[in-house]
Amino acid sequence: MILDNLREIENNLPKNVTLVAVSKTKPNSDIMTAYNGGQRIFGENKVQELVAKHEELPKDIEWHMIGHLQTNKVKYIAPFVSLIHAVDSLKLLKEINKQALKHSRTIDVLLQFHIAEESSKFGLNKSEAEELLRSEVFLNTKNIRIVGVMGMATFTDNEKQVRKEFRLLKSHFDDLKTTHFNNDHFKIISMGMSGDYKLAIAEGSNMVRIGSTIFGSR
Ligand SMILES: *Cc1c(COP(=O)(O)O)cnc(C)c1O
Repeated sequence: MILDNLREIENNLPKNVTLVAVSKTKPNSDIMTAYNGGQRIFGENKVQELVAKHEELPKDIEWHMIGHLQTNKVKYIAPFVSLIHAVDSLKLLKEINKQALKHSRTIDVLLQFHIAEESSKFGLNKSEAEELLRSEVFLNTKNIRIVGVMGMATFTDNEKQVRKEFRLLKSHFDDLKTTHFNNDHFKIISMGMSGDYKLAIAEGSNMVRIGSTIFGSR
Protein backbone atom coordinates (compact mmCIF):
# COMPACT_ATOMS: atom_id res chain seq x y z
CA MET A 1 0.00 0.00 0.00
CA ILE A 2 2.63 2.51 1.07
CA LEU A 3 4.61 2.01 -2.13
CA ASP A 4 1.51 2.33 -4.30
CA ASN A 5 0.55 5.53 -2.51
CA LEU A 6 4.04 6.91 -2.87
CA ARG A 7 4.18 6.15 -6.60
CA GLU A 8 0.75 7.64 -7.14
CA ILE A 9 1.83 10.91 -5.53
CA GLU A 10 5.22 10.98 -7.26
CA ASN A 11 3.56 10.50 -10.61
CA ASN A 12 1.42 13.54 -9.97
CA LEU A 13 4.13 15.88 -8.75
CA PRO A 14 5.73 18.32 -11.16
CA LYS A 15 9.49 17.82 -11.41
CA ASN A 16 10.34 20.94 -9.43
CA VAL A 17 8.31 19.88 -6.37
CA THR A 18 10.09 18.09 -3.53
CA LEU A 19 8.17 15.50 -1.54
CA VAL A 20 8.66 15.35 2.21
CA ALA A 21 7.17 12.06 3.42
CA VAL A 22 5.68 12.85 6.82
CA SER A 23 6.30 9.77 8.95
CA LYS A 24 5.27 11.04 12.38
CA THR A 25 3.75 8.35 14.63
CA LYS A 26 4.57 5.70 12.01
CA PRO A 27 6.92 2.78 12.75
CA ASN A 28 10.39 2.38 11.27
CA SER A 29 9.14 -0.51 9.15
CA ASP A 30 6.80 1.86 7.28
CA ILE A 31 9.63 4.31 6.74
CA MET A 32 11.85 1.52 5.41
CA THR A 33 9.16 0.51 2.95
CA ALA A 34 9.17 4.03 1.51
CA TYR A 35 12.97 4.18 1.76
CA ASN A 36 13.34 0.99 -0.23
CA GLY A 37 11.03 2.51 -2.80
CA GLY A 38 13.53 5.36 -3.19
CA GLN A 39 12.19 8.02 -0.83
CA ARG A 40 14.96 9.78 1.12
CA ILE A 41 13.31 12.85 2.67
CA PHE A 42 11.18 12.31 5.76
CA GLY A 43 9.47 14.79 8.06
CA GLU A 44 8.74 14.53 11.77
CA ASN A 45 7.14 16.96 14.19
CA LYS A 46 8.42 15.73 17.57
CA VAL A 47 12.06 16.04 18.58
CA GLN A 48 12.24 12.84 20.59
CA GLU A 49 10.75 10.75 17.80
CA LEU A 50 12.96 12.42 15.21
CA VAL A 51 16.12 11.69 17.20
CA ALA A 52 15.17 8.05 17.77
CA LYS A 53 14.35 7.46 14.12
CA HIS A 54 17.54 9.16 12.99
CA GLU A 55 19.56 6.84 15.23
CA GLU A 56 17.81 3.70 14.08
CA LEU A 57 17.43 4.27 10.35
CA PRO A 58 19.82 4.63 7.37
CA LYS A 59 22.16 7.57 7.54
CA ASP A 60 21.42 8.87 4.07
CA ILE A 61 17.91 9.88 5.07
CA GLU A 62 17.39 13.65 5.10
CA TRP A 63 15.38 14.49 8.18
CA HIS A 64 13.14 17.52 8.19
CA MET A 65 11.75 18.96 11.40
CA ILE A 66 8.33 20.19 10.31
CA GLY A 67 6.63 20.89 13.64
CA HIS A 68 6.88 23.62 16.23
CA LEU A 69 10.34 23.52 17.77
CA GLN A 70 11.06 24.54 21.34
CA THR A 71 14.28 26.42 21.89
CA ASN A 72 15.52 24.03 24.56
CA LYS A 73 15.25 21.06 22.18
CA VAL A 74 17.24 22.44 19.26
CA LYS A 75 20.42 20.87 20.62
CA TYR A 76 19.13 17.33 20.11
CA ILE A 77 18.56 17.69 16.38
CA ALA A 78 21.32 20.18 15.52
CA PRO A 79 23.91 17.49 14.69
CA PHE A 80 21.93 15.98 11.84
CA VAL A 81 18.72 17.81 10.86
CA SER A 82 18.72 18.83 7.22
CA LEU A 83 15.90 21.40 7.23
CA ILE A 84 13.88 23.07 9.98
CA HIS A 85 10.53 24.22 8.56
CA ALA A 86 8.83 26.12 11.32
CA VAL A 87 11.06 28.96 12.48
CA ASP A 88 8.97 31.84 13.75
CA SER A 89 11.04 33.73 16.30
CA LEU A 90 14.36 35.44 16.70
CA LYS A 91 14.95 33.50 19.88
CA LEU A 92 14.66 30.23 18.00
CA LEU A 93 16.87 31.43 15.14
CA LYS A 94 19.50 32.49 17.63
CA GLU A 95 19.49 29.11 19.35
CA ILE A 96 19.66 27.20 16.05
CA ASN A 97 22.62 29.35 15.09
CA LYS A 98 24.34 28.64 18.39
CA GLN A 99 23.86 24.89 18.14
CA ALA A 100 24.85 24.83 14.48
CA LEU A 101 28.07 26.62 15.36
CA LYS A 102 28.77 24.04 18.06
CA HIS A 103 28.59 21.32 15.45
CA SER A 104 30.46 23.33 12.81
CA ARG A 105 27.41 23.25 10.58
CA THR A 106 25.20 25.64 8.71
CA ILE A 107 21.58 24.69 9.28
CA ASP A 108 18.97 25.47 6.65
CA VAL A 109 15.67 26.85 7.92
CA LEU A 110 12.35 28.15 6.62
CA LEU A 111 10.45 31.09 8.06
CA GLN A 112 6.98 29.99 9.09
CA PHE A 113 4.19 32.39 8.25
CA HIS A 114 0.77 32.43 9.79
CA ILE A 115 -1.56 32.34 6.79
CA ALA A 116 -4.61 30.46 8.10
CA GLU A 117 -7.75 31.97 9.47
CA GLU A 118 -7.57 29.66 12.46
CA SER A 119 -5.89 31.30 15.40
CA SER A 120 -2.63 29.62 16.15
CA LYS A 121 0.27 30.62 18.30
CA PHE A 122 2.67 29.81 15.52
CA GLY A 123 3.90 31.67 12.50
CA LEU A 124 4.95 35.20 11.68
CA ASN A 125 3.05 37.89 9.89
CA LYS A 126 4.80 39.99 7.29
CA SER A 127 5.81 42.85 9.56
CA GLU A 128 7.12 40.51 12.25
CA ALA A 129 9.25 38.82 9.62
CA GLU A 130 10.57 42.16 8.40
CA GLU A 131 11.44 43.13 11.94
CA LEU A 132 13.22 39.84 12.56
CA LEU A 133 15.24 40.18 9.38
CA ARG A 134 16.30 43.72 10.25
CA SER A 135 17.47 42.86 13.74
CA GLU A 136 21.10 43.00 14.76
CA VAL A 137 20.84 39.52 16.25
CA PHE A 138 19.74 38.01 12.96
CA LEU A 139 22.36 39.90 10.97
CA ASN A 140 25.02 38.36 13.20
CA THR A 141 23.94 34.76 12.73
CA LYS A 142 26.47 33.05 10.52
CA ASN A 143 25.48 29.41 10.90
CA ILE A 144 21.91 29.50 9.69
CA ARG A 145 20.69 29.93 6.19
CA ILE A 146 17.12 30.98 5.49
CA VAL A 147 16.21 29.03 2.37
CA GLY A 148 12.52 29.82 2.07
CA VAL A 149 9.10 29.98 3.68
CA MET A 150 6.55 27.56 5.13
CA GLY A 151 2.89 27.80 5.99
CA MET A 152 -0.28 25.86 6.67
CA ALA A 153 -3.65 26.76 5.22
CA THR A 154 -6.91 26.67 7.13
CA PHE A 155 -8.33 23.18 7.55
CA THR A 156 -11.42 23.60 5.41
CA ASP A 157 -12.86 22.34 2.16
CA ASN A 158 -13.42 25.91 1.01
CA GLU A 159 -11.07 25.81 -1.93
CA LYS A 160 -11.18 29.55 -2.51
CA GLN A 161 -10.09 30.23 1.03
CA VAL A 162 -7.22 27.75 0.87
CA ARG A 163 -6.01 29.12 -2.45
CA LYS A 164 -6.09 32.65 -1.08
CA GLU A 165 -3.91 31.65 1.85
CA PHE A 166 -1.39 29.82 -0.29
CA ARG A 167 -1.28 32.83 -2.60
CA LEU A 168 -0.48 35.01 0.41
CA LEU A 169 2.46 32.81 1.35
CA LYS A 170 3.72 32.85 -2.23
CA SER A 171 3.56 36.64 -2.22
CA HIS A 172 5.52 36.79 1.06
CA PHE A 173 8.13 34.59 -0.58
CA ASP A 174 8.31 36.80 -3.67
CA ASP A 175 8.59 39.97 -1.59
CA LEU A 176 11.34 38.60 0.64
CA LYS A 177 13.19 37.29 -2.37
CA THR A 178 13.30 40.83 -3.73
CA THR A 179 13.94 42.72 -0.52
CA HIS A 180 16.18 40.40 1.53
CA PHE A 181 17.22 37.23 -0.24
CA ASN A 182 18.28 37.97 -3.74
CA ASN A 183 20.30 34.76 -3.84
CA ASP A 184 20.11 31.20 -5.16
CA HIS A 185 19.62 29.59 -1.75
CA PHE A 186 16.31 31.25 -1.02
CA LYS A 187 14.05 29.08 -3.12
CA ILE A 188 11.76 26.85 -1.04
CA ILE A 189 8.01 27.38 -0.65
CA SER A 190 6.89 24.62 1.71
CA MET A 191 3.11 24.42 1.51
CA GLY A 192 0.62 21.65 0.96
CA MET A 193 -0.35 18.53 2.91
CA SER A 194 -2.45 15.47 2.07
CA GLY A 195 -5.69 17.39 1.79
CA ASP A 196 -4.51 20.43 -0.11
CA TYR A 197 -1.23 19.75 -1.88
CA LYS A 198 -2.67 19.97 -5.38
CA LEU A 199 -4.01 23.44 -4.66
CA ALA A 200 -0.70 24.37 -3.07
CA ILE A 201 1.23 23.32 -6.15
CA ALA A 202 -1.15 25.25 -8.38
CA GLU A 203 -0.37 28.32 -6.23
CA GLY A 204 3.39 27.93 -6.46
CA SER A 205 4.49 25.40 -3.85
CA ASN A 206 7.72 23.56 -4.56
CA MET A 207 7.82 21.45 -1.39
CA VAL A 208 4.88 19.41 -0.11
CA ARG A 209 4.65 17.66 3.24
CA ILE A 210 2.49 14.57 2.87
CA GLY A 211 1.75 12.04 5.59
CA SER A 212 -1.57 10.24 5.68
CA THR A 213 -1.94 9.89 1.92
CA ILE A 214 1.29 7.86 1.93
CA PHE A 215 1.23 6.04 5.26
CA GLY A 216 -2.47 5.92 6.07
CA SER A 217 -4.38 7.78 8.74
CA ARG A 218 -2.82 8.32 12.14
C1 LIG B 1 1.34 16.13 10.07
C2 LIG B 1 1.83 17.26 9.26
C3 LIG B 1 1.79 17.22 7.85
C4 LIG B 1 1.21 16.06 7.07
O1 LIG B 1 -0.16 15.98 7.25
P1 LIG B 1 -1.06 14.95 6.38
O2 LIG B 1 -2.40 15.56 6.40
O3 LIG B 1 -1.00 13.63 7.10
O4 LIG B 1 -0.47 14.86 5.04
C5 LIG B 1 2.29 18.31 7.16
N1 LIG B 1 2.82 19.37 7.79
C6 LIG B 1 2.88 19.45 9.13
C7 LIG B 1 3.48 20.65 9.75
C8 LIG B 1 2.39 18.40 9.91
O5 LIG B 1 2.46 18.49 11.24
